[in-house]
Amino acid sequence: MAETSATVLTVSAAGPKLSFHNGGDFILETRQEVELYLASRRTELKGRLQLYTKTVVAFAILVASWITIVFVRPGVALGLLALAGLVAGTVLVGFCVQHDANHGAYFRTRRFNHLMGWTADAMLGFSSYAWRVKHNVAHHTYTNVDGYDDDISQTPFARLMPSQEPKPWYRLQHIYIWPLYSVMVIRWQTGADIAALVRRRIGKSTVRMPQRWDLAGLLVGKAFFVGWAIVAPLFFYPWWVVAVGYVGFTMATSLVTATTFQLAHCVEEADFTSAEEMEAEKRIWAVHEVETTVDFCPRNAFLTWVLGGLNYQIEHHLFPRVPHTHYPRIAEIVRRNAAKHGVRYTAQPSLWVALRSHHRHLRRLGRLGVPVEIEMG
Ligand SMILES: [Zn+2]
Repeated sequence: MAETSATVLTVSAAGPKLSFHNGGDFILETRQEVELYLASRRTELKGRLQLYTKTVVAFAILVASWITIVFVRPGVALGLLALAGLVAGTVLVGFCVQHDANHGAYFRTRRFNHLMGWTADAMLGFSSYAWRVKHNVAHHTYTNVDGYDDDISQTPFARLMPSQEPKPWYRLQHIYIWPLYSVMVIRWQTGADIAALVRRRIGKSTVRMPQRWDLAGLLVGKAFFVGWAIVAPLFFYPWWVVAVGYVGFTMATSLVTATTFQLAHCVEEADFTSAEEMEAEKRIWAVHEVETTVDFCPRNAFLTWVLGGLNYQIEHHLFPRVPHTHYPRIAEIVRRNAAKHGVRYTAQPSLWVALRSHHRHLRRLGRLGVPVEIEMG
C-alpha cells in the first residue's frame, strides 16, 4: 500500500522554527478512509498503470517532436506544431512524471523515485535535488507562509501576499506578472539553482551541497539538457533560429507551469500567514494546507489528465506520496470530511473563475499601500 502520511516538521529551517499540530480529527478520519481506498490491490495497481501509461505518452510526444524539429527540419507551420508538441511533452513530464517521482509517489523505493525524478534535470533543465528542497520542503511544509514558502516570495518583483511590504510598482503587477511567469523556468535552470547552492538555502530551508550521485546527477543532467535543447539543434539551424526557438519553448513551458501552481495558492480564496502569526497561534497542519490551497476545474477530466492532478492541489498537499491518478477519488473523501469538521474547502468551478480570482488578488495587493487586514473566514 502506498505511503499516505505527509512527513512534515522534520526539516531544518534557518529562520525561527515554525511547527504545526500534526493531528486532528479531520486528517485522522480522512487518512483512514484514503488508506482503506488504497488497500485494494486492484485500485492501487490501476493508479500506477495509469501513471506509467502517461509517462510513455509524455515521452513519445516529446521525442517525436524533437526528432521532427532536429532531423526532419520542417517548414514554419509544421515547425511551430512540433515546437508546441515539445512544450506539451515537457509540461507532461514536469507535471505527471518528475513531480510524482520527486515526491516519492512514482515507485515504492526512494532510489528509483530519485532516478525518475532526474527527468527534471534531463528534460526540464532544473535540478531535481534543489527542487526537492524548494518544492517538497519549503512549499509543501510551509504553504503560503511569508518568507518560508519560496513560491510566494517574489519580492521585489511582485507582492503575492498581504504581509509583504508594498511598493509603488506593484500597482501594475497584475499586468507584468505574466512576462515574469514566462521567465520562471529559465531562472530555475540558471540563476536559481546556482543561488540555492551558493546560499545553501531556499526560503528558510537548508540546502546541503550535493555529494557523489546527487552532484553527478546535477552536472550530467545540466549537460544532457543543454545537449538536446541547444547544442544538437545548432548542428542543423543558424544560431538565431535556435535562440528564438529555445526562448519560445521555455517561455511557453514556464507560463503553463507558473500559472498552474499560482491558481492553486495565489488567489482570493486562499489563506496567507506570516511567521509571527504562526508563532502566536500554532496551527493544525492539515487544516492549514486545505485553507491555503484551492482546487480548480475538478470535473474537467482532460485538464486533470494534462496537469497531473495539480488542479486537485488540496488532495496533493494532503497526500503528496500517493500517485496523482488517485486524486479525483480521494477528493470525494477529503471534501466530505472537510464539510464534517468545518474545514474551509474551496474548488473553483472553471479555469476562467480561477484566473479571474488570481488577477483580482494581484490587483488588490498591488493597489493597497499598507499591509491588508486579512479576513479570517
Ligand atoms: Zn507538489
